[in-house]
Amino acid sequence: MNRTLIKDALTDAVVGSEITVAGWVRTVRNHKGKNRFSFITLNDGSCLATIQAVADPKLSNYESEVVHLTAGCSVVVTGKLVESQGKGQSVEMQVDEVRLLGAADAEVYPIQQKRHTFEFLRTQAHLRTRTNTFGAVARVRNVICAAIHEFFQSRGFLYVHTPIITSSDCEGAGEMFRVTTLETGRDDFDADFFGRRTSLTVSGQLEAETYACSLGSVYTFGPTFRAENSNTPRHLSEFWMVEPESAFCDADDNADLAEDFLKHIFSSVLQRCGEDMEFFNKWIDKGVIETLTHVAESEFVRLTYTEAIEILQKAGRKWEFPPEWGNDTQTEHERYLTEEKFQRPVILTDYPSTIKPFYMRLSDDGKTVAAMDVLVPKIGEIIGGSQREERLDVLTERMKAQGLNPDDYWWYTDLRRYGTVPHAGFGLGLERTVQFVTGMSNIRDVIPFPRTPRSAEF
Ligand code: ATP
Ligand code: MN
Repeated sequence: MNRTLIKDALTDAVVGSEITVAGWVRTVRNHKGKNRFSFITLNDGSCLATIQAVADPKLSNYESEVVHLTAGCSVVVTGKLVESQGKGQSVEMQVDEVRLLGAADAEVYPIQQKRHTFEFLRTQAHLRTRTNTFGAVARVRNVICAAIHEFFQSRGFLYVHTPIITSSDCEGAGEMFRVTTLETGRDDFDADFFGRRTSLTVSGQLEAETYACSLGSVYTFGPTFRAENSNTPRHLSEFWMVEPESAFCDADDNADLAEDFLKHIFSSVLQRCGEDMEFFNKWIDKGVIETLTHVAESEFVRLTYTEAIEILQKAGRKWEFPPEWGNDTQTEHERYLTEEKFQRPVILTDYPSTIKPFYMRLSDDGKTVAAMDVLVPKIGEIIGGSQREERLDVLTERMKAQGLNPDDYWWYTDLRRYGTVPHAGFGLGLERTVQFVTGMSNIRDVIPFPRTPRSAEF
């Protein structure tokens, strides 16, 4: 079909030209009386805005179809682009032809012209992208993904694909989903499909490290799975993660990369998603544009975990979880640091080794590892990363200390056996990034079909 995108019709098309647009009806107003007209607003997903099409009774199907159009109907409209008479839009269409592709029974169409709650729309995930909010989320998510690839491609990082089914049974990142073709209850892995215990991956890091330790700088970008029972607005059972890994890179280089990376994403969205960001700023999170602009321009705070604990202990407030050296930071702590104390992103480094996985590099103090979490206002942790342990003996010791058998990781330890190099990387949660950028408060509303405990419809 030779159609013009509504986005282009509204911004680029020549007034007076004949165009064809196709989309779904958002609203219809039928003017009765002497001056009969129908005003149809159409959206095709190319942008947030709708185009208004003005249809008059001379159309052959005016009585039979046009006056009966309702929200959700799909139509192809041909007509002349003209300066708009009404307020709110600069151009509109004078319709020559309306072709109805599919009706949508107004009695039962779930996406009515009123405001629906996000909870309700989650039950209509297959249609919720027809609303302003979910269309805007989808477009912003797309721009973020494009920006991620651009960032790494422009810096010579190789895009690599790590497996989704894995047999590394503990990466220190939480509970895993078993992958099996056995009947329930059976545990003889020898008889199972892969002849061993397999799970859905919680991270592509270990495999990405192997590529980094041959090819330099690489990144993975794919789905990851966590079977933890966390019903929070920031956790999904299936989410997308971006994991760069760079050889010849230390913890400071890693933090620099993370900061540049986030700023690139934020400024790309500000540059390219103007209309959608205005929408979020007005309806979802007042001030989100200002926050993003501020973050894209300001230097992130860098702080050690030990310094952060001191700051938190001196904050003079009642915590649900009193901060104490040796315990992981909680959301309330992360929000205090990013929203109140510093009012910008904070990169926390050098965590106690006891609360971090075996692969993080042990520091000279013997107590901390070269870990790094990037915290942002409202969301808390958006990135987790580290410099990796490149010394074979230290790595093996750390594995044993965490109850892992180094033999199970023979290929991983081989990287330290043959030409080991300092290297570092991190994981960025895509959905948390979309949340931060759009101000959407629930992570279930920034992924098309969310998977959470007790919920996997669609
Ligand atoms: P958290 O402490 O918030 O549960 P984590 O420390 O388990 O996260 P990492 O293993 O460091 O997370 O994963 C790297 C990034 O992936 C996190 O910084 C976050 O952005 C994202 N992430 C982790 N778990 C989830 C999840 N369940 N749902 C969505 N994103 C997640
Ligand atoms: Mn983490």
